[in-house]
Amino acid sequence: MKANDTERLVRANIRALCPYSTARDEYQGSIGVFLDANESPYDTGWNRYPDPRQRALKEKISAIKGVPAGNIFLGNGSDEAIDLVYRIFCEPGRDNAVMIAPSYGMYKVAADINDVQARQVQLGEDFSLDGEALLKECDSRTKLLFICSPNNPSANAFPREQLLEIAERFQGMLVVDEAYADFSSQGSLLGSLAEHPNLIILQTFSKAWGMAGLRLGMAFASEYVIRLMSMVKYPYNISQAVQEIALKALSNPGNKAKELVALRDKAAEGMKRFAFIRRIYPSDANFLLVKVDDAPALYKHLLADGIIVRNRSSVRGCEGCLRITTGLEEENKALLASLEEYEKGNIHR
Ligand SMILES: *Cc1c(COP(=O)(O)O)cnc(C)c1O
Repeated sequence: MKANDTERLVRANIRALCPYSTARDEYQGSIGVFLDANESPYDTGWNRYPDPRQRALKEKISAIKGVPAGNIFLGNGSDEAIDLVYRIFCEPGRDNAVMIAPSYGMYKVAADINDVQARQVQLGEDFSLDGEALLKECDSRTKLLFICSPNNPSANAFPREQLLEIAERFQGMLVVDEAYADFSSQGSLLGSLAEHPNLIILQTFSKAWGMAGLRLGMAFASEYVIRLMSMVKYPYNISQAVQEIALKALSNPGNKAKELVALRDKAAEGMKRFAFIRRIYPSDANFLLVKVDDAPALYKHLLADGIIVRNRSSVRGCEGCLRITTGLEEENKALLASLEEYEKGNIHR
């Protein structure tokens, strides 16, 4: 897709939008007396509005990710970016979005909220992606295509050549959710952003970076798409507190992905010997999807031991499956000990 083709995908009202201009948008440089925004002048630490463009934080992220600041959007979690792309590209009641299934629930919830038809394309039994089937579901009203890679809950990453071919052939915006990319040997599609103006990549500080409580998600896209997202978002969507804390946390860049991958593989190794665990799916993420004999019974047993996992057994394609997040060494040990009790028949119900 050519760069100027993205413009015709944008809703007419958004293309014509004159965004809210904040008091803080208008000045650049050094000002000592702020009488423009009706804030309190008494210094509480938080009495001033935050930078609506999050310039300092974006510069830091730009340096870490190797992506220009003009290609970065920051949101209240990735969920804000997911909602925004619906509001920017999809005409309610008319347009549709195509997505893989099973996958992250927010793509469909955000579609439902925005009155956009969600078309789900089931992955193969081994969670492989049929690109042809996906593209066949798309028509002239398909504005968005969501692919989560590595995928939640199936834990696998899709081949990058396959994702890039879909980006090439799809006539709408391809959203690749890379929430778990830090854990994947496949890495990220960020390096291909410049050649694909219809590509939007989502990442987050909620997983490998350990900041789920802060609520900070990233979207990477063409400058044009980032400008649209910045125009449509709430002006002050990232609080001063979050900007400051994240900036500080990122001054020592580095995350725990490697440690967690080692802990995940160790937990998987420990689970292999249980006969009631039928399958441990290969993982490119910080969790394991496991197929077991009686998922609801095992779920209840673990819960009674004070261990909560995610029961995905009622999700189509995940029958009999539990999704288990990788924890600390001692937490994974507690999990294995509880599985051992379950095997011995000391079952809590
Ligand atoms: C956890 C997760 C996210 C992160 O969402 P945030 O709103 O940034 O916390 C995004 N996508 C997927 C698939 C996830 O599993």
